[in-house]
Amino acid sequence: LELIRQADPEVAETMAKELKRQRDNIELIASENFVSPAVMAAVGSHLTNKYAEGYPAKRYYGGCQYVDETETLAIERAKKLFNCGFANVQPHSGASANHAVYFALLNIGDTVLGMNLAHGGHLTHGSPVNFSGKDYKIIPYGVSDNDEKIDYDNVEKLALEHKPKMIIAGASAYSRIIDFKRFREIADKVGAYFMVDIAHIAGLVATGLHPSPFPYAHVVTTTTHKTLRGPRGGMILSNDEDIALKINKAIFPGTQGGPLMHVIAGKAVALKESSTKEFADYQAQVIKNAKALSDELIANGVEIVSNGTDNHLMLVKLTKFNTTGKEIEKLLDECRITVNKNTIPNDPQSPFVTSGIRLGTPSVTTRGMKEPQMKIIASLIVKIIKEKAEAIDFVSKEVEKLCSQYPLYKNDVKA
Ligand code: PLP
Repeated sequence: LELIRQADPEVAETMAKELKRQRDNIELIASENFVSPAVMAAVGSHLTNKYAEGYPAKRYYGGCQYVDETETLAIERAKKLFNCGFANVQPHSGASANHAVYFALLNIGDTVLGMNLAHGGHLTHGSPVNFSGKDYKIIPYGVSDNDEKIDYDNVEKLALEHKPKMIIAGASAYSRIIDFKRFREIADKVGAYFMVDIAHIAGLVATGLHPSPFPYAHVVTTTTHKTLRGPRGGMILSNDEDIALKINKAIFPGTQGGPLMHVIAGKAVALKESSTKEFADYQAQVIKNAKALSDELIANGVEIVSNGTDNHLMLVKLTKFNTTGKEIEKLLDECRITVNKNTIPNDPQSPFVTSGIRLGTPSVTTRGMKEPQMKIIASLIVKIIKEKAEAIDFVSKEVEKLCSQYPLYKNDVKA
């Protein structure tokens, strides 16, 4: 931060405070992670200077010979990691990637079957406040009341009834393995495209810890910054040349301008990191940690949606504790445990209040925490849920101890 401090002390000050927050807090937001210093350096590099509209060897600007090499590395690594034939690494974000798929494969007004936001889906899967819900006819599906897992029979019934042009699988707050084969069978019955959004589980898919959407999906979108632990951004993958060509046109010139070459360099570095044994071990620990956290919460009388987790996250139900997600998020924030309030299936509260919180283990696992620390974190969360403000002092001290035992960016980032 020294360079920034010299040029702009005000911005440097805000950045220093955020670095301290990241170091001093237990980060349980399921969609966040801490990138490696190499990824951070790539994103903060001179590649931000280059305009490169188009694709490698087919650009609309001169001087692209070296960024062509960078982008090609990212593309080839993405294809290898996810075992597919085509990759577009230019989407600026997960939402941009999803937007491009709609743009490529559908016409405005077409019918799409997507997971209900209130049951774990993402805004771009058809929420009425998003472009997807405004421009397309959305039929939402969700989880069953019995086991709170995706109700595949109901997905099939809805598909047969509404004949969607595209079915979307994937979620932001769903803790179970998704059966991509079953989804594709349903899509085939009605002649729909099958899109899978693996934003949350990309790191698990890359390491074989969640079944791959290939060969079932026609198109796969992802973010690069969640379990995959790369820079903020998106990617679109597929095995079908026809679809891949439409996707490329939908990203540029369809919905984006020049690619962010510095971010693409960061994606390339992260994709190399993702192919290592260390990364596979890390992902396995992310899942073990999520299970340990969930088991300990359940053992202390706290309910988890679908009664557990197969991946990196879980949804905690607060209904029986006479509190809300909003209240617990705020209390935990005061103790420097960061979570987000989240609706649970059939939530009686509004999305601003909610009856749940979402917890994820990618960030704490990157810091090196394992099952024993998950047990401690679970006990701290339980204490806050049960004792509320009275527990703040005790919990804050325990958080401080944990954070100092597992330092973040110890020698790599200077305030
Ligand atoms: N898809 C899913 C399943 C997500 O959970 C998210 C973000 O949380 C996105 C897409 C959107 O990603 P971004 O925030 O990069 O637009």
